Amino acid sequence: MSARPLPRVQEYTKAFWEGVKSGKLLIQRCRSCGSYQHYPRPGCASCGSRDLGWVESSGRGRIYSLTVPRVVIGDQKAFEAEIPYVLAMVDLEEGVRILARVTGYSRPEEVSIGDQVVFEPVDVGGFHLPYFKKA
Ligand SMILES: [Zn+2]
Repeated sequence: MSARPLPRVQEYTKAFWEGVKSGKLLIQRCRSCGSYQHYPRPGCASCGSRDLGWVESSGRGRIYSLTVPRVVIGDQKAFEAEIPYVLAMVDLEEGVRILARVTGYSRPEEVSIGDQVVFEPVDVGGFHLPYFKKA
C-alpha cells in the first residue's frame, strides 16, 4: 500500500491545520466585509481584502451532498483499505461548506443528505484531518 497523501500546509492555511490538531474547527472571517469563508485563502473571496481573521466554528452542520467511493482509481491506492467510506460536503452553521469524511454510521448506505453531523478531528499518521461524525 502506498503512503496516504496529506495536505500541504501553506502560510495562509497553517492556523486552520493547527486548529484541527487542537480540536478546533477554524474558519476565516473577513474583517472588512464580515464574510465567512472556507477553504482558507490569502484574501477574501467576497471583497478581495487581505485583512482576514479566524473564528471558531460551532462544528455543527448538515450534509449537503455525499459520495461513497467503492473502487480505487488512478493514484488513490493509499485509500484502498478504507473503501467504502463517506465523503461529504457539509454545510456548517456559519454558512460555509467543507469537504470531509463522515463517520459514525454502521454502513455508508445509512447516510443521507440533510443529516446533522459534528466536527471530530482524526489523527492520520500524526496529521489531523477534519472529519465529521453522526450527530
Ligand atoms: Zn471581505
